[in-house]
Amino acid sequence: MCTLIYWFRNDLRLADNPAFAQACLNADSLLPVYIHDSKEQDMVYGFERQGLHRKTFLRASLNDLKAQLQAQGSDLFELAGKSTEVLLQLVKDAAATAIYCEQIEAPEEIEQVRILQEQGVEVQEFWQSSMLEPQDLPFALEKMPDVFTGFRREVERAQLKFAQPINTPKNIPLLPGSLPQRSVAPSRTQSASHPYFVGGASHAQAHLKQYLERRLPDSYKETRNQLIGMDYSSKFSAWLALGCISAREIAAQLSDYENRYGANDGTYWLWFELLWRDYFRFIHFKYGQNLYRASGLTGLAVKPSSQASFEQWRFGNTGSELVDAGMRELYQSGYLSNRMRQIVASYWIYDMQGDWRAGAAWFESQLIDYDVYSNQGNWLYIAGRGTDPRGGRPFNVAKQTQDHDPKEIYRKLWLSS
Ligand SMILES: Cc1cc2nc3c(=O)[nH]c(=O)nc-3n(C[C@H](O)[C@H](O)[C@H](O)COP(=O)(O)OP(=O)(O)OC[C@H]3O[C@@H](n4cnc5c(N)ncnc54)[C@H](O)[C@@H]3O)c2cc1C
Repeated sequence: MCTLIYWFRNDLRLADNPAFAQACLNADSLLPVYIHDSKEQDMVYGFERQGLHRKTFLRASLNDLKAQLQAQGSDLFELAGKSTEVLLQLVKDAAATAIYCEQIEAPEEIEQVRILQEQGVEVQEFWQSSMLEPQDLPFALEKMPDVFTGFRREVERAQLKFAQPINTPKNIPLLPGSLPQRSVAPSRTQSASHPYFVGGASHAQAHLKQYLERRLPDSYKETRNQLIGMDYSSKFSAWLALGCISAREIAAQLSDYENRYGANDGTYWLWFELLWRDYFRFIHFKYGQNLYRASGLTGLAVKPSSQASFEQWRFGNTGSELVDAGMRELYQSGYLSNRMRQIVASYWIYDMQGDWRAGAAWFESQLIDYDVYSNQGNWLYIAGRGTDPRGGRPFNVAKQTQDHDPKEIYRKLWLSS
């Protein structure tokens, strides 16, 4: 009798989930769990790592996953505490043979698996969060091109588009006889401030469907740098971040769309942006922990920034109207356009001389699409501490205001609320 634990991490879906599918094949009984890790409440910078918007989106995503598991005769058990401790106890209580989970190639998540293995637990990890399969790439990950353009060119030369999604398991093994007693009650969270972003695989699928049906990919390239509304960019990011939908699934549906309506600049550019997402993932295999140093991949030191200026930036009281509008949008909604993320990050680093790590931590706390690879990668990029040979990306706020908010519509929207 083989009892396995399936540990859901940032893969809150049943569709196109190879790790979960393999666990279903190998287990006689399967215990699906999600752990609310106590590290999310750490207050390193004076605020929780997982702020309210993220909690709300996560709550809805877990409810959706639980309903899907229950519909197939299984269930989801939510536990709270230090993930490694909770799992070690669970392995004992359920007499489980192994833990199956998705692989996350970031320092804290690598450490969790290392601790479990050190304690003698078998952990089967599956890499499954990228659009492309690492083994299909025309280079070893440790030797991948440092610069995005070089990476993209090699991917295109090899004619790679996306890896095929796999089917949802038809049968989920029964739950084991002994079930966790300490399952946490779903916490109450306020309703999402951004009513459109509702977590969960069903909502992810519905969002993708309407996005394609309304032919929004066609205009994506022209609209992607706008600042207001739901349609100027795809808004896939939050569902991707928690794995409510896979990047491969989105890319596959985008490819069907191209077959139906024809490929164009918009569809290409969407794929191109999803490739940026892969790039920031894969670069973690090459540089790992070094991406998490204050100096990143450079020898640059970090000057400590003042708490007072950090508070001004966080809550949108810097005196720079465009930046303040952006920071208020982020705080009130949990989302910010890519262009505004670049502008506010640059302002914090270059105009306010802030510590980029504090800025990245605030984004981690607030963004409903917080993704360790993309957040770290983009902050390093703007701060000039990653792989970009240009050494930093300062944005001129006056020019950005003129280019993106000449009629003051965006500033009025967020500064008056
Ligand atoms: C300082 C900073 C921090 C960021 N932090 C995050 C983060 O924590 N999580 C996150 O998902 N994205 C992050 N981004 C990248 C980008 O801003 C968001 O992915 C994008 O704005 C999400 O909106 P969308 O889904 O409508 O994107 P679209 O423009 O519709 O793009 C489609 C998809 O491509 C991917 N993508 C687009 N741009 C990027 C990019 N620059 N880097 C990586 N992937 C990209 C996303 O998965 C996105 O959903 C950050 C960017 C900056 C400048």
